[in-house]
Amino acid sequence: MSTVVTPGAASAAPGTPNRAAVRPGPLLLLGAPGVGKGTQAKELVRLWGIPQISTGDLLRGNVAQGTDLGRMAHEIMQRGELVPDSLVNEMVAARLAEPDTKNGFILDGFPRTLGQAHWVDEQLASAADALPVVAVSIKVDYNQLLRRITGRRNCPVCQRIYNIYLQSPLRDGVCDNDGATLVQRSDDTELCYEGRMRTYANLTAPVVEHYRGLGRFVEVNGDLPVAEVAAGIISAVEKLRQ
Ligand code: AMP
Repeated sequence: MSTVVTPGAASAAPGTPNRAAVRPGPLLLLGAPGVGKGTQAKELVRLWGIPQISTGDLLRGNVAQGTDLGRMAHEIMQRGELVPDSLVNEMVAARLAEPDTKNGFILDGFPRTLGQAHWVDEQLASAADALPVVAVSIKVDYNQLLRRITGRRNCPVCQRIYNIYLQSPLRDGVCDNDGATLVQRSDDTELCYEGRMRTYANLTAPVVEHYRGLGRFVEVNGDLPVAEVAAGIISAVEKLRQ
């Protein structure tokens, strides 16, 4: 059975289950580029102390370090296309083998194809002591997404995410936390965004339907303040884990 969370339906207020007692297990954060997967993942990491595994961040790390994977991935990422499943799956397998994933993890931006989805389903099914996966799909209107993407700026030091239209820093171009100069991702341009959205519609939208069909699925409205979206996700995951 899937759970649809509507505005106001969820609350992080006292009276909700004891968070320390909730074992979040594996969570998938799904949704088009710019819906706020990364921002929401950071809220969940703070609450549950499980790691965020962002395949986009891992790939950008490889690009920055000039690894073989990074060299292969760079141009593909610039075109808004997807890096081949075999490479991404291998990268995720290595990350999931690390001990900090024991109580759960948040996969942010993975799986993005049905091939990746079937692969991760198999991996989790064969893992000892693993809880079944919960998938969270975040939905936001297209025009909102465009503003979110083209306005997005990142702090390279603390990784805080700003938006020049919606959540600007106190001083233009400077991180409030550490004074670092904010940067724009090279694929956060309007042109590249169109390609990323096409890729999403063709290859990733079917992944959302796959998990909707499996149950343990939550769809949230991402067009709300960050804390409200997070509260909706948290309350739905807690119910599914009871
Ligand atoms: P993101 O930061 O999640 O928006 O990802 C940035 C880019 O990295 C995407 O546009 C893809 O080119 C690549 N990428 C990230 N995750 C995946 C994935 N699961 N499969 C294939 N390519 C990915």
